Amino acid sequence: MNYFVGIDIGSTAIKITIVDEDKNLVGSRISGSGSMFYQYAHQTLDELLRELNLTRDDITYVVATGYGRKIFKEADENISEITANAIGAVAAAKEFGEIKTIINIGGQDSKAISLDDQGNVVNFAMNDRCAAGTGKFLDACAMNLEIGVHELGEKHFDSTGVPLSINSTCAVFAESEIIGLLGNSHSVEDIVCGVHYSIAKRIVKLVKRVGIKEGIYFDGGPALNSGLVNAIENELGKEIFIPEFPQITTSFGAAIMGVDSYNYEASLKEA
Ligand code: ADP
Repeated sequence: MNYFVGIDIGSTAIKITIVDEDKNLVGSRISGSGSMFYQYAHQTLDELLRELNLTRDDITYVVATGYGRKIFKEADENISEITANAIGAVAAAKEFGEIKTIINIGGQDSKAISLDDQGNVVNFAMNDRCAAGTGKFLDACAMNLEIGVHELGEKHFDSTGVPLSINSTCAVFAESEIIGLLGNSHSVEDIVCGVHYSIAKRIVKLVKRVGIKEGIYFDGGPALNSGLVNAIENELGKEIFIPEFPQITTSFGAAIMGVDSYNYEASLKEA
């Protein structure tokens, strides 16, 4: 059996996915990017291989993607995270139907990607200048509220349902605003709900830049937050699809790309 590895070195997390030659998901692993991307990427790959009872000799082709993709020099190929995200989303959303718009929120950026009927990227918009509307902002809010990011979804649904408005457009000022709201006896639940709506409003603006086309797919770590999903759906007024493993879509796409590249290279050799 041939195995294909997709490595997504993100600003916050390293995601590694392995697929077989039929592009089926074999396994995946997520670890923090930390400060030593290269070392942690290798470490994470070895851990995943061990978990799957595989060795490096079982790997046929490696595609690296993400913010730190060029660091992984052993990769056979590296591709942009926009391309990898689109390939992964189309494959992960087969049961949902056609994907036309992808919303990706990562650790330090957020993106809206528009696809054509064939699943090709036709346009994208990105916010990588400002932490508001990214995973880092959610991490900072959770820290200020002394809860974990994985608890944000539950807190959102325990709120009074009327989101507090967080008006600061800058993450640093928004953090001060949150501390002020706590000082004014607002509940953690209502603040969390307000934070989610403030991010959702920014995301809707971003999506509008590429055009809102139905068949909306949301991925990246923050898509694990059901409260944020709820706020984005309400702000968009449209249903959005969340894959089973939203944080690994881009590495899944990179692994799938590896299968195609390998088959293409093999066909050139045969010709
Ligand atoms: P990147 O690719 O830029 O490294 P990710 O797509 O891996 O970013 O997303 C990282 C973000 O995902 C974190 O900053 C955090 O806010 C969010 N996140 C991670 N795990 C969870 C979880 N269980 N629940 C909610 N949010 C999460």
